[in-house]
Amino acid sequence: NEKIKIGIIGYGNLGRGAELAVQNNLDMELVGIFTRRDPATIKTATHHVKVYPYHDIESFKGKIDVMVLCGGSASDLPKMSPEVVEHFPIVDSYDNHAKIPEHYERVNEAALKGGNTAIISTGWDPGLFSLNRLLGEIVIPKGGTHTFWGEGLSQGHSEAVRRIKGVKHAVQYTVPIESVLADARRGKGENLSAAERHKRVCYVVADEKEHKRIEKEIKTMPDYFAPYDTTVHFIDEATFFNEHQKMKHGGFVIRSGKTSPNHQQTVEFSLTLESNPEFTASVLVAYARAAHRLQKKGEIGAKTPFDVPFALMTNKTTAQLMKELL
Ligand code: NAP
Repeated sequence: NEKIKIGIIGYGNLGRGAELAVQNNLDMELVGIFTRRDPATIKTATHHVKVYPYHDIESFKGKIDVMVLCGGSASDLPKMSPEVVEHFPIVDSYDNHAKIPEHYERVNEAALKGGNTAIISTGWDPGLFSLNRLLGEIVIPKGGTHTFWGEGLSQGHSEAVRRIKGVKHAVQYTVPIESVLADARRGKGENLSAAERHKRVCYVVADEKEHKRIEKEIKTMPDYFAPYDTTVHFIDEATFFNEHQKMKHGGFVIRSGKTSPNHQQTVEFSLTLESNPEFTASVLVAYARAAHRLQKKGEIGAKTPFDVPFALMTNKTTAQLMKELL
């Protein structure tokens, strides 16, 4: 059987994760990584992988089956996903929830024009969490859906702390509030805000005489921290580099409701991730297999995780699935 030929576009955390994820899937091979930077400056995780300039992608038509897009959601993917899908089937991890419908429209138009399949907004949220929100609603129509993120490192909030004068290093973890999580499992608190469901914990390296001011600036920062229960821990540089380098994340999707007045039912899906980008990329790569198959069936245009059956994402046959997993 011929291997599925994968290209990776964008080589940050997610791109590196995708490179590793392809190696875990024996029916796939990585043809190349594409970057907007000078390819000579990119050091890949594996030695033999070639890096090419992004503007050369068109010369790989026929040599790559699916492009895995690993650019950022804020400014890369809105432009790159439509651009690339004119030439190749794609998967992306577009995660700006409020703007997914717009992104879908732009990608769908370009995908239909190019005659290609696109699976957008894969990953874990959006992605696996979205699937579990839907599954919960389907099975328990009368109830509430609760999403919690964490405990996990938030890039945006860590950057916000690092921008404060005097901060040498900082990370921020988002942590679900235990009592609210317990309530959710009993079907309570569906309408609470994100700030009422999570607390924020910061680890900061800074000179001791600056601690008071920095802590106050963090806790009063509008939107980012002010509405949240925020704790600031000052630590030394060695502890920072020993204990706070992993991009861990995770969370819970809980659906709780009643099937009759006396019977409460709860469905829960949870993730505990030591590396958010490696896990997210593993999801993207599984969807790349599905994109390749949809393309072969002529099912072009944009899809979301809701539209893609699991059977298209696995390398196992229907007979194997029935025997081993059904
Ligand atoms: P990142 O490390 O900032 O990389 C984004 C892009 O920036 C890369 O593709 C790369 O493009 C460029 N880049 C990376 N390192 C660079 C450097 N040192 N100098 C200059 N440019 C650099 O972002 P990421 O952590 O991979 O995350 C990418 C996106 O994944 C996020 O924006 C988020 O939307 C999405 N995500 C989704 C989920 C989900 O569950 N759906 C979960 C996690 C993340 P070039 O190689 O072309 O320069």
